[in-house]
Amino acid sequence: MCTHGKCNGCSPPHRGEAMTNWWHSELVQALTQITHIDAHYLLYTMLVISSFVVINDVLRAVKRREHRAGLTTSLALELSVDGSKNRQVRTYISEIQGISGRPDALIIENGFCIPVERKAFGNKVRDRHIAQLLVYMRLIEEFEGKKPPYGYLIIGKSARRVKVYNTPERQAWLSEQINQMKDIVNEKIPAAARPQKTKCAKCKVSDACEQRFIAPVEHTSSSNQKEQLILINSK
Ligand code: SF4
Repeated sequence: MCTHGKCNGCSPPHRGEAMTNWWHSELVQALTQITHIDAHYLLYTMLVISSFVVINDVLRAVKRREHRAGLTTSLALELSVDGSKNRQVRTYISEIQGISGRPDALIIENGFCIPVERKAFGNKVRDRHIAQLLVYMRLIEEFEGKKPPYGYLIIGKSARRVKVYNTPERQAWLSEQINQMKDIVNEKIPAAARPQKTKCAKCKVSDACEQRFIAPVEHTSSSNQKEQLILINSK
């Protein structure tokens, strides 16, 4: 800014020069402040972004490892409570036994390879869940060379852990089920459906299924009257 106090008498070119100098110094000052603020802000933003990238990379690496091992994060946590070791999951295909399967997880407990099956929907242990686990135990015995004494079912949202023992009685029951299934596939016996209202409503093959659940027709008073009229007219 002009400081000689004679601005009023200054020639227009001088006033213009003074104003330009003043604007220049103000602009430089403002820019310096902005640069300082921006530098700190930029550094902080970069630090935050870098932290996010590092955390994200670590989480993704953990998820990749769990996926390779066939475990979801929650299942891995549920199983690691008592110090069991996780084992890489594989698909077992037995041509000798005519069965195949891939458990949700495999853990090593007391020197045994133990199958784990997660059933997140529903809270009841079904026969089919037990049959599935028994099949895995047969496959593990064939491929790993050691019979698992039990397997685990992880049931429902609360992840209730159910230990299913691999007993000779259960394996005999499984053999019966497998033989029955083979007979149905080979058309030696007809498949017996067990239609249920809610199950059939959601079933994808219900249109083609002759045994689907059909609700009984309710006889209302008007339909009874119509039936009576038809009977009268036919007499
Ligand atoms: S529609 Fe047939 S196949 Fe589907 S659930 Fe019902 S009975 Fe079973």
